[in-house]
Amino acid sequence: MKLILLGKPGAGKGTQAKKIADYYNIPHISTGEMFRQAYAGKTELGVLAHDKYWGKGHLVPDDITLKLVEERLAKGDCKKGFILDGFPRTLVQAKALDKNNTIDHVLYIETPDSLCIQRIAGRRNCSQCAKDYNIYFNPPKKDTLCDTCNQQLVQRPDDKEDIVKQRIIVYENQTQPLIAYYQNNIVTVTDNGNDSPDKLFQKIKKALGK
Ligand SMILES: [Zn+2]
Repeated sequence: MKLILLGKPGAGKGTQAKKIADYYNIPHISTGEMFRQAYAGKTELGVLAHDKYWGKGHLVPDDITLKLVEERLAKGDCKKGFILDGFPRTLVQAKALDKNNTIDHVLYIETPDSLCIQRIAGRRNCSQCAKDYNIYFNPPKKDTLCDTCNQQLVQRPDDKEDIVKQRIIVYENQTQPLIAYYQNNIVTVTDNGNDSPDKLFQKIKKALGK
């Protein structure tokens, strides 16, 4: 099964994509993860993409993203299918993807902006053990200190609220046209924040008809 996952930053796409990938036994291809790895590995493309674009809340240009995705989809494990998370983001990318791939379903996770902002801008990590927290949904017991190490929790620069809002605006402007483009095979599941990730996944399975 060849799937595309659409949803705003903070729609919980990563969590659901992993569940879908496990259930259907297909690779989860996250462009965000690919970019973070390329930046951490200090590749030329990775550093450029971070410093000029995603580190500032801007979209990475189509040619850079396409190059990265095409290399990944050419690998053997993608023959039986894949789930794309964070790609395509623009009509140019969608049309380029359509040239070599037949997409079975486009899954759109619809989420209110306020929930997306809390999920991302609320994230904190321990500066010592890297344990994840969220000041709204999973706060530490004491102030802004890790429960285990008592070290200060930190926020990733691109998780700051003004950057998150900018990412959502960029998303709306660039990605919403994709929903119209894929109107014939789009499946919409609404996440209002009341369902557990497992319950939301049950809804998704049902919506995909498997
Ligand atoms: Zn810690």
